[in-house]
Amino acid sequence: MDCIFCRIAAGEIPATIVARTDHAIAFRDLHPQAPTHLLVVPTEHVGSAAHLSRGAAARVLGEIAALATTVAAELGLEAGYRMVINTGPEGGQTVDHLHLHLLGGRQFHWPPG
Ligand code: 5GP
Ligand code: ZN
Repeated sequence: MDCIFCRIAAGEIPATIVARTDHAIAFRDLHPQAPTHLLVVPTEHVGSAAHLSRGAAARVLGEIAALATTVAAELGLEAGYRMVINTGPEGGQTVDHLHLHLLGGRQFHWPPG
């Protein structure tokens, strides 16, 4: 298994895990782009959002989005935050295991780069 996020989920690579459910984990990004920068990933390997079947999409995306909003509240991000799912090469995805970025603690701008 050479997937970094599968190995983090399995406890084979260290990460600062902030929260965990039966199906997802939230851990701190190695190169944070904001004072709070977490990655929320399904425990089971999925290459990207584009790899989800129609049947699995609502469940898996719902699971990671719900964990992200729970963690955002727990971390006190009431001023706001951003959730991002980079998908595919043009989407800026660099790790091929579906992940949601939860960023907070500073002002974000639009449009994104
Ligand atoms: P992407 O560019 O695919 O949307 O985001 C991948 C993210 O994973 C990047 O923000 C990068 O800093 C983070 N990352 C890459 N390798 C590791 C790692 O080994 N541990 C952690 N915690 N984050 C990682
Ligand atoms: Zn994986």
